[in-house]
Amino acid sequence: MHLFDFENSYATLPAALHSQQHAQPVADPQLFALNDELVRSLGGDPDDFRTEFGVSCLAGNAVPKGATPLAQAYGGHQFGQWNPGLGDGRALLIGEIVTANGRFDMQLKGSGRTSYSRAGDGRAWIGPVIREYLISEAMAALGVPTTRALAAVTTGENILREGPVPGAILTRIASSHIRVGTFQLQAFRGDTDALRALYDHTVARHFPNASNIFEVTAQMIDRQCDLVARWMSLGFIHGVMNTDNMTVSGETIDYGPCTFMDTYHPSTVLSSIDRQGRYAYGNQPSIAAWNIAQFASSLVPLADDQDAAVETLNAMMGTFQDKWQAAWARHFCPKFGLSPTKDATGIARRFLTIMAETGADFTQTFADIDAPLTHKDYADWRSDWQNLAPDMSIAAQSNPIVIPRLHHIEAVIQSAVANDRKPFDAMLAAVTKPFENHDLYSRAPAPEERVTATFCG
Ligand code: AMP
Ligand code: MG
Ligand code: MG
Repeated sequence: MHLFDFENSYATLPAALHSQQHAQPVADPQLFALNDELVRSLGGDPDDFRTEFGVSCLAGNAVPKGATPLAQAYGGHQFGQWNPGLGDGRALLIGEIVTANGRFDMQLKGSGRTSYSRAGDGRAWIGPVIREYLISEAMAALGVPTTRALAAVTTGENILREGPVPGAILTRIASSHIRVGTFQLQAFRGDTDALRALYDHTVARHFPNASNIFEVTAQMIDRQCDLVARWMSLGFIHGVMNTDNMTVSGETIDYGPCTFMDTYHPSTVLSSIDRQGRYAYGNQPSIAAWNIAQFASSLVPLADDQDAAVETLNAMMGTFQDKWQAAWARHFCPKFGLSPTKDATGIARRFLTIMAETGADFTQTFADIDAPLTHKDYADWRSDWQNLAPDMSIAAQSNPIVIPRLHHIEAVIQSAVANDRKPFDAMLAAVTKPFENHDLYSRAPAPEERVTATFCG
């Protein structure tokens, strides 16, 4: 059966970049969720994915026509430590879907062991699959560049985490899965042929207007500044911004221990593995800069004059701070109904300081920005803000009411484990309409409901 128009340009790149292999079959795949709208936008027919063959393809038990599955090789700095031995350890790139709107990767996540699995089982359980599905679709609805969730299947097999848990596989769609760490690995190995092939492939796909490594780096700075500013304007903490979890396309990837903050504080970190707070909310721009510097370094071997290239790239990294400030203002000022001027930026910063001091809920405070106006903490701030003549219709379009909150996601996962999928459907419907009020899903957690740590899965 023809599911999508597949092509596999990545499979034609040097073997150092990937390893062709098949998924490990699972016992009893069942469709848990299918993103009909996304299937259609990629030129497919949702009915095809509900057939036995369609579900088999989403489980890795069958390969769709035209696809040549492979695992991608990459390295990465994990919490600042270089690790050359990463790669798709629990995922496979099934193929690239060629559409009228461009080329998209279709990846199965949780499809079994690969040559990059190390000690891992290559599997995923329903918890992280649901979490990524809900959060990535919410991000898309919020207008944030992101990988998407096409489908989730349960495997009919239990896997072992803390105890036995139901296995699942997520089908992920991305502009590509090329990461900073994909470049780093080839530079580290000194495989300049593979590096150049990767570079040419990546430029054609993601930087079509760039004519050298400097223009690529400049665009990378622009898109990561924009991405991280969008995250922060929504209270989002990625949680594990390792260089293998940063795409060069500028899409958010790898929703592991991420979260939308409830109570605002810039030092907020929820990930249980982030003991030093490296990936705290407020550190995200400096980590992005650090990651881009690693990316830029890995392009140096492609330059004719490498010393000169290092100097130029260093100077370019010096532009990050200004670009960051501009991106921050672009995404925060509209939350106050203001254009991104210097005065508006000052107003936004003062507001956040008060929020941090008062322990305000990030999303609810912005969604109901009229309410703080009556509060004494905001009295001085209020008159200065109103002097700038805010346009509240702009604020309303910039401040979502519903975000996927951790305590709700946890409840959805528990229901799914108990074979009740209705809460998943209800929550998905709510978080994909983030500007519409919802009785349950717009609610902040009560103190006893608050989730205080996130896990990788
Ligand atoms: P991530 O947590 O997605 O950043 O993954 C870091 C690395 O660990 C990647 O190379 C993954 O493919 C690999 N990995 C994570 N979980 C598993 C697993 N269950 N089995 C094998 N490899 C894994
Ligand atoms: Mg049909
Ligand atoms: Mg990852």
